[in-house]
Amino acid sequence: MVYTRLETIRMPELPEVETVRRILEERLKGLKLTSYELGRPTFYRAPPKASLDALLGATLEAVRRRGKYLILSFSGGKELTLHLGMSGRIVLGGKGPHTRFQFTVEGQVVSFNDARRFGRVGCELPEFGPEPLSAEFSPSYLFKTLRKRKAPIKAMLMDQAIVAGLGNIYATEALFEARIRPGKAAGALSRADCERLTAAIKKVLALGVELGGSTLEDSAYLDPLGRPGGFQDRVAIYGRKTGLCGHALKATRKTISGRTSLYCPVCQQ
Ligand SMILES: [Zn+2]
Repeated sequence: MVYTRLETIRMPELPEVETVRRILEERLKGLKLTSYELGRPTFYRAPPKASLDALLGATLEAVRRRGKYLILSFSGGKELTLHLGMSGRIVLGGKGPHTRFQFTVEGQVVSFNDARRFGRVGCELPEFGPEPLSAEFSPSYLFKTLRKRKAPIKAMLMDQAIVAGLGNIYATEALFEARIRPGKAAGALSRADCERLTAAIKKVLALGVELGGSTLEDSAYLDPLGRPGGFQDRVAIYGRKTGLCGHALKATRKTISGRTSLYCPVCQQ
């Protein structure tokens, strides 16, 4: 596959984080946190030591996900939030390069590695819109929320307060699937557009989860067991020069959320 230079920066999105969540829950649920270790204080914002100390001896009861955040729920109502940032990886097993945080649950070492340091441990959760794979995220919700919004639809989809978990790759693919241009004003979407777009978002994300997320050649994403995802082999336009539809792709002239956006000038009218 040929990758363009246009979209080289990406971060783990809902399917990648959900894949991590499932593996952590399957492997670690029911185990007690016995120790933790913080790397050199290079975090953008260091997790408070007192809240980490409170986790010692607590049992991991569930691993949840909200948007792109992981929430480890421990006994006694304690929680540890994690955000992978741009290049964060959670690794089961020994230390890797760039380990920022590490904890042990009954002999199993879990490392949080992050070369670019945009990841967070023990962070506050922001305001989220609905989960896109839930019933709450419906065409009528989207239509109501986007009405009168002048921003490009793609920027709105990547706004976590509108819908949680979408980033560049899945928003690009969903807009192609729905045949809507990324630069179109969000408020100009019709009810029928919102119906197609809601269905496309759910379809693309569900496929992403099913395939274990996506691993691009320039991306550090691998699951906690070191395996790549499979969605990159199914993308219709993201990172391509010619779409699966057979048409030459274009990039928006204006940047959307800080970068140009790919679209098919034929299929996306
Ligand atoms: Zn096309």
